[in-house]
Amino acid sequence: MRTIGHFIDNKAVEGASGRFGPVWDPATGEQRSRVALADAAEVDRAVAAAKEAARTWARASLARRTALLFRYRELLLAHRDELAALITAEHGKVHGDALGEVARGLEIVELACAIPEKLKGELSTEVSTGVDVASIRQPLGVVAGITPFNFPAMVPLWMFPVALACGNAFVLKPSEKDPSAGLRLGELAAEAGFPDGVLNVVNGDREAVDRLLAHPDVAAVSFVGSTPVARAVQRAAVEHGKRVQALGGAKNHMLVLPDADLDVAADAAISAAYGSAGERCMAVSVVVAIGEETGDALVARLAERAAAVRVGPGTDPTSEMGPLITAEHRDSVAGYVRGAREQGADVRVDGTGYTVAGHEGGFFLGVSLLDRVTPGMAAYRDEIFGPVLCVVRADSYDEALALINASPWGNGAAVFTRDGGAARRFQLEVAAGMVGVNVPIPVPVGYHSFGGWKDSLFGDHHVYGTDGVRFCTRGKVVTTRWPDPADRGVDLGFPHHG
Ligand code: NAD
Repeated sequence: MRTIGHFIDNKAVEGASGRFGPVWDPATGEQRSRVALADAAEVDRAVAAAKEAARTWARASLARRTALLFRYRELLLAHRDELAALITAEHGKVHGDALGEVARGLEIVELACAIPEKLKGELSTEVSTGVDVASIRQPLGVVAGITPFNFPAMVPLWMFPVALACGNAFVLKPSEKDPSAGLRLGELAAEAGFPDGVLNVVNGDREAVDRLLAHPDVAAVSFVGSTPVARAVQRAAVEHGKRVQALGGAKNHMLVLPDADLDVAADAAISAAYGSAGERCMAVSVVVAIGEETGDALVARLAERAAAVRVGPGTDPTSEMGPLITAEHRDSVAGYVRGAREQGADVRVDGTGYTVAGHEGGFFLGVSLLDRVTPGMAAYRDEIFGPVLCVVRADSYDEALALINASPWGNGAAVFTRDGGAARRFQLEVAAGMVGVNVPIPVPVGYHSFGGWKDSLFGDHHVYGTDGVRFCTRGKVVTTRWPDPADRGVDLGFPHHG
């Protein structure tokens, strides 16, 4: 069995803690490899390497940083198939979807290639006679990133390219469920020529995270994962005096108004609900239909499409949806479908008990469509994080908006309509960080920032884009005067402008 270690100071490092976690092939249910789980001493080694590297990397010219980032971009492009294969092998998502994940990550590398434009400071001349003021932004030092299983390449790429471009060194702690893609991203950065210690990958679980959060030399922590852990990570990081952005879970609603093109809306809902087996923080998990007529017509279209989704191994080009990440998670998702039926939901498509011939041990589940779901049901309240789409009926726009805004989460929300005025109202009134108008998964492009509201994000900065650059830098204001010897003189008054 393969053992996955760490990547510190541009070198492969074997785990020394004696602790390991299983890494499954979700399509077969077999354990392919094991991942070393770092202890505090191993985390300290990675942080020490990053701290040492940050001292010189912070002074590397913008030209040098961007030259390396451009080279990194070319390497990622050349290795995108290999990265996608690593993702499919450990996460289970279908190869095309994994390629899409790599492409969306590459967007952030491209943003980082343009960092000189983003880091241009501000200068005011002659704020007072002979006095100029400049605002500049400087790197923080060591930034740590802790990432979830569902995007093992894209979420790390949301973080470290911007951090590195801004002159920081980085320690990445990928999900222990699918660590290989993150590790490979580190190796490729070394190949691109990033100096030793600038990007380190340390594998592990809570023990490693706790050490990163407490380590005095870690200046900032970027976290993406579930809401309870995000909340705890933010609190611990703040307690230790760190800057932190902690992105949490979601329950994304898609509102369908009666005037919407219902075929377009149904296509969008199915794609966004079941893509990547629903294991996306921007998955549509609730469709809110206004009016019984709209609801009935939409559910008929959803049921027809849901029944046609092809579930199978991610390596099979005919599969549209792969397995779930673990057997436990699959069972938990199935439990929500059974529970919803007991609580009175109309289970229009039941994906529980689904098996794939030749892959009986795989963590597969078919897609489920639950109609007449109500807010009291666990399937509505909790983030299921699986291929389950709930339909809620509402009588009016106001009732639907109140329902959506009562959710503790506020990651993404979408509206489907042909009415520009209604869409405009929704985009202003909905309490979510990312809104789609006839777009089901509004994941912002790299030069806009990604982030939710409420329990979907703890902290003040969204990730990547302009917010990412601000998160990875701190401001400094420099006031300059080159005095004329003729103007000498002591003045104890508080300086004022003149
Ligand atoms: P998770 O919270 O279990 O794990 C995320 C990371 O935290 C992993 O690296 C893990 O090792 C670490 N971790 C787990 N438990 C911990 C603990 N008790 N203390 C410290 N660290 C801990 O999340 P997951 O299951 O890997 O990912 C799925 C979740 O991530 C979903 O809730 C999903 O919505 C969310 N997510 C959110 C976004 C977003 O942008 N808001 C993006 C992707 C995923």
